[in-house]
Amino acid sequence: MRPPAPRPLPTVWLVGAGPGDPELLTLRAARLLGEADVVLCDDLVDRRVLALLKPEARVLPVGKRGGCVSTEQAFIHQLMVREARAGRRVVRLKGGDPFVFGRGGEEVDALREAGLDVQVVPGLSAGVAGPAAFGIPVTDRRHARGLVLVTGHAQDGGAGPDWASLAATARASALTLVVYMGVARSAAIAQALIEGGLPADTPAAVVQAAHTEAQRLGVSTLAGLPALIAREGYASPAVLVIGEVLHAAALAREALAEARTDTVARQGHG
Ligand code: SAH
Repeated sequence: MRPPAPRPLPTVWLVGAGPGDPELLTLRAARLLGEADVVLCDDLVDRRVLALLKPEARVLPVGKRGGCVSTEQAFIHQLMVREARAGRRVVRLKGGDPFVFGRGGEEVDALREAGLDVQVVPGLSAGVAGPAAFGIPVTDRRHARGLVLVTGHAQDGGAGPDWASLAATARASALTLVVYMGVARSAAIAQALIEGGLPADTPAAVVQAAHTEAQRLGVSTLAGLPALIAREGYASPAVLVIGEVLHAAALAREALAEARTDTVARQGHG
């Protein structure tokens, strides 16, 4: 007599929703969304994605804007555990890719510790897919040898990345810098990068709400970017793209020529 097959563990699917447009979901993400009973959804997930759910599916918005981060994260874990143990198909839906600045790692640990199985479905991350919305190829080899994805938002009020060493490395190795969660701190970031040795006229862009109806691109030099952001009201969600690679995109090239003339003209007049 064979032993009974082990009962499958309750499962949570940690799914990347991509940057916006539902057509950028993976086929697997779309299928899982159509099968889900419960979807715990982040703020940044484009609402159009929810059209893929079955009508009776429950959506639990668990965005963290303005809340106490640690309690809420624990609460999200508890909620997923409770729903999955109750036998429901639980999808944890995150903007972009769950493992790129998405706390996916923490959630996987918490769920596994609670004895659940976790399946991760990658998504298109805003740092690569966002620039692509405007034809910016982040590692175009004519201009860059690599890409650094970095957060501009120091977690728990800490110091954030070491901008000076990042600037030196980016310059020495021709790396494109993509800064998530950095638009509100762009002035401090640009200043620190320039102090660290990135030339003030390094091309720099802000890509806002890529792959949504509100998508916008602003291009300037590193020195000029914060003023552009303030003047034109660029705001979260947005990534900053810093590096010579902006020359590889026609749209950016034109804006860059103007931004540089602007800087040169202002310098020329003291
Ligand atoms: N896991 C997500 C990132 C979450 S952190 C991913 O892989 O894309 C949130 C940050 O992502 C935002 O502050 C912003 O910097 C960036 N972001 C998310 N969606 C974006 C979009 N549609 N356009 C531009 N930036 C976006």
